[in-house]
Amino acid sequence: MTNFPNMLAPLDLGFTTLKNRVLMGSMHTGLEETKDWNRVAEFYAERARGGVALMVTGGMAPNPEGGVFPGAAGLFSAEDINNHRIVTERVHQSGGKIAMQILHAGRYAYGPDCVSASAIKSPISPFPPKELDEAGIEKQITDFVTATLRAKEAGYDGVEIMGSEGYLLNQFLVTYTNKRTDQWGGSYKDRMRLPVEVVRRCREAVGEDFIIIYRISLIDLVPNGSTFDEVIQLAKAIEDAGATMLNSGIGWHEARIPTIATSVPRRAFTWVTKKLIGHVKIPVITSNRINTPEIAEQVLSEGCADMVSMARPFLADSNFVLKAQAGRNDTIAPCIACNQACLDHTFSGKISTCLVNPRACHETDLNIKKSANPRKVAVVGSGPAGLAAALTAAESGHSVTVFEKGAQIGGQLNVAKQVPGKEEFWGLVTWYETMLAEMGITVKLNSEANPSLLTDFDEVILATGVTPRSPEINGINHPKVLGYLDVLKHKKHVGPKVAIIGAGGIGFDVAEFLVSENDRTAEDLPAWLKEWGVTDPAHQRGGLSPEGAQPAAPEREVILLQRKAKALGKGLGKTTGWIHRLTLRNKNVRMIGGVNYELIDDQGLHISFGEARERPEVLDVDHVVICAGQNPERSLADELVALDIPFHLIGGADVAAELDAKRAINQGTRVAAAL
Ligand code: NAP
Ligand code: SF4
Repeated sequence: MTNFPNMLAPLDLGFTTLKNRVLMGSMHTGLEETKDWNRVAEFYAERARGGVALMVTGGMAPNPEGGVFPGAAGLFSAEDINNHRIVTERVHQSGGKIAMQILHAGRYAYGPDCVSASAIKSPISPFPPKELDEAGIEKQITDFVTATLRAKEAGYDGVEIMGSEGYLLNQFLVTYTNKRTDQWGGSYKDRMRLPVEVVRRCREAVGEDFIIIYRISLIDLVPNGSTFDEVIQLAKAIEDAGATMLNSGIGWHEARIPTIATSVPRRAFTWVTKKLIGHVKIPVITSNRINTPEIAEQVLSEGCADMVSMARPFLADSNFVLKAQAGRNDTIAPCIACNQACLDHTFSGKISTCLVNPRACHETDLNIKKSANPRKVAVVGSGPAGLAAALTAAESGHSVTVFEKGAQIGGQLNVAKQVPGKEEFWGLVTWYETMLAEMGITVKLNSEANPSLLTDFDEVILATGVTPRSPEINGINHPKVLGYLDVLKHKKHVGPKVAIIGAGGIGFDVAEFLVSENDRTAEDLPAWLKEWGVTDPAHQRGGLSPEGAQPAAPEREVILLQRKAKALGKGLGKTTGWIHRLTLRNKNVRMIGGVNYELIDDQGLHISFGEARERPEVLDVDHVVICAGQNPERSLADELVALDIPFHLIGGADVAAELDAKRAINQGTRVAAAL
């Protein structure tokens, strides 16, 4: 019997057949803007070779005013078309198919020339849009048509017209952003005129044998969003206008409900896609938080969709489909939905990559080659840096031994996985265990390395990690004081009232743990929907529950503190920081910045504010948890230096400040690849 029979079944589109039911969803990687077309081509070709049936590119602007930011890529010239042909030819030679996404950002375009249905500024952009007049609307349609024709000329197998996520076409659909009284506004039939007209005119121009996917917003998650009756009406009209497939769009970018972050339950929105099944005859694609072949298969076998879209999982592992086909699904590198190296990079103007797989988007410059001179390599420490180094060294043909002083591999990953909303880290540790065995790496647990153990090796990589910093505060040794490892790792008892010193990533993690230790909504979809106020869009416009967010009561009273005067959580991930802040606010966590820590005693934590140490206050808490950063753990490194034994220092042992798994894995991979 075939593995994953539904996921691997072909999909006949009439004029062409997709070899399986897996679509690589659109991701803006920033590669196109590098203008290194060989690099762009290799990114997609590697994924085509990995067996995915159809890929969708990052959004290409149909015109400069519709670009997500000034200078956003698009097919504007003959030179652009020739460059994109390099990509499509390489994909076709690699056995894949590729569609170009046409994305008109409307009022989300980050520039003064942005346009929309009405002149209403979005809360996530400083630029108020100009209201399009009749001629302006006609120009936008023509530009969509031109982009489609150019995509065909460039060799694409199709286009995806972006109609969701709150971009231009979505802005015309709802009264929240469309206040027009002409034929492009007013009734729903008139509000949907633009998307339908765009699809109709693109189909008319391009002929029958070309894929047109329309990305339809199924649940807007904004006030006055569409009802599901309207969604069905639009879907039918888009089908009649000539779309080949419908892809699911979930939530506008300005929605204050997470839709793809790691704390969102897996397949959290496939039930919404399922509501469309039976209303149209064309295939329907579902998406969001589908990250394993098992989930994809389940979604398809339950009839939620005809095809599944996964995007970030193809950054984590380009061979996702081939490995599933071969029954080696346990070796698929998991996307943990952290956004740290993909979306956070995109929104910081950096090229995307992947925390788990630093080769993503670096296919032409980070290649792990077999060493001409295989050696014996010792890796000390099995946190993310050590694990990445060990796997890479083994892949290069070296004989690798990992020394881990604890009873299990994973280092700080084992701490992260305890945090509610970070359950995906369990799968990452399991994947590393599988891969260590797969690569024939010797793992010595409960084994503290020392210089004499290491003399037998040709190369030594030290990934000994970090030790928590103990700040100099009067009373730091008081029994009320706990470290974050006491809480997350050793599971020591924590009383009902807690102050947390330090509001970095770990301070936030500890706060989330303390308020919802036993209330893990990331694995409980009904509870998660209630927590964020999401309901059936058939009952409430946009799928927003009239009761709003209804999180469970916090399990403890928590105060989170930092010395800096600015807002807490400013240094968290670009695309996920707001979720952490909102989660804690919804749990009544008090956040205080600009404090001095004066004393910890039986009364609690004594603080004051500002340089003048004014407004003294005693926080009457049962415990004070220290999350004040880390120092590098270098005792073994110091011993090796004294003995003149050479080594490579990586991860937190190298630089503890601002260490995260992304940097650790990247450094571990690169150091080992260069051995
Ligand atoms: P961090 O982000 O550097 O935060 C340390 C916190 O401790 C800051 O709030 C700092 O604020 C405070 N602090 C520093 N020195 C102090 C002192 N001497 N006395 C009192 N307070 C002090 O470190 P972290 O929270 O330990 O996190 C470590 C790394 O893991 C970070 O790079 C982080 O990005 C990463 N991480 C990421 C995530 C994620 O979700 N992406 C989650 C967890 C951890 P003040 O100086 O203002 O007091
Ligand atoms: Fe997934 Fe994180 Fe990699 Fe992005 S960086 S692809 S979210 S694992």
